[in-house]
Amino acid sequence: MIYLDNSATTKPCTTAVNRINNALNECWGNPSSLYGFGLDAENEVTAAREKAAALLGADEKEIYFTGCGTESNNIALQGAANALKKRGNRIITTSVEHPSVLNTVAYLEKNGFEVIRVKPRKGGMIEAEDVLKFVDGSTVLVSVMLVNNETGRIFPVKEIAAGLKKLSDKAVMHSDCVQAFGKLPIKVSDLGVGLLSASGHKIHGPKGIGILYKSKNVNIVPVTYGGGQEKNLRPGTESVPLIAGLKGAMDELDIGGAYKTVSVLNNYAREVLSNTEGVVINTPADGSLPYIINISVPGYRSETLLHGLEARGIFVSSGSACSKGKGSYVLIESGFDKETVDSALRISFSRDNTTCDIDGLCTAITEIRASTRKRKF
Ligand code: PLP
Repeated sequence: MIYLDNSATTKPCTTAVNRINNALNECWGNPSSLYGFGLDAENEVTAAREKAAALLGADEKEIYFTGCGTESNNIALQGAANALKKRGNRIITTSVEHPSVLNTVAYLEKNGFEVIRVKPRKGGMIEAEDVLKFVDGSTVLVSVMLVNNETGRIFPVKEIAAGLKKLSDKAVMHSDCVQAFGKLPIKVSDLGVGLLSASGHKIHGPKGIGILYKSKNVNIVPVTYGGGQEKNLRPGTESVPLIAGLKGAMDELDIGGAYKTVSVLNNYAREVLSNTEGVVINTPADGSLPYIINISVPGYRSETLLHGLEARGIFVSSGSACSKGKGSYVLIESGFDKETVDSALRISFSRDNTTCDIDGLCTAITEIRASTRKRKF
């Protein structure tokens, strides 16, 4: 199998799996229990919290464990908007966020908030000035992802957060860092955000575990209510096995080393893909995360390509919500033409991929083109 869909999910690393097993077998107490056995479970949670805080340059009191990146985004956005609704009702985001942001702001819009969705420039880049020009006295929340999950473009979150601070003393800056966490060396004070979301299964950890960073200077209201765990922001008995697994995955991160490895792969892929007839590269090398390359094979539908690749044991993605006749909204919003959108594929790497995987992909694309009739769009 050639797995090139690491932005969808990654293979859990051995350390993560071992820590999950250990937590299930040896450490299954309730972390809220007052006896020593419960304390062992609590220690697992504390160790993971300390590790996440260290990675993000945050205080451990600012780290909250959630059920996934989606839930982190919901708690951050709903929590901040509702905490600030007496002070203003404008929310600014981009039109190319993940559905967990777009659908949450749509829900807030139905409940009285005004939502501005900033479109990227042609090619998919969001410019800071295009966001900041919408900041006014009623703005309470700005949410911009650090890395787009379909194109890999890196958005200027640091510049937007710095600009926002100058323009407003009440608006909160959130960033969905699900595709960036563990791949870029993110420090919250450098990025300047008050809220940040991350997810375990994108960094070789388990599914069902997310991280929310909330600065101690930001107040948000809970979305769910319960027994007070995670300082009331995400009540419910902590999933110690998943938190322990996340800790294992975070321990295995070598952000700089993996970035170098994947950059070499990315360069190689760009060279080989641009020499493969019929392939167009949609993600520019500059301003993009090396882990993601979006390509198109004009004349061939994404689904046809995807299934042709799958038949050869190669797994890539056709982008989000790409159903028949309806291409990726991210590529459409980024100004790509219909033929490019309808024939798009997302290739996403991990530290485990090799140049052989890329050779296999290119050979397969050539075979599929040779054996499939080109279709008119
Ligand atoms: N945000 C982005 C940018 C993503 O790519 C994803 C998942 O693909 C999510 C949020 C949701 O994360 P999770 O699958 O942990 O809910």
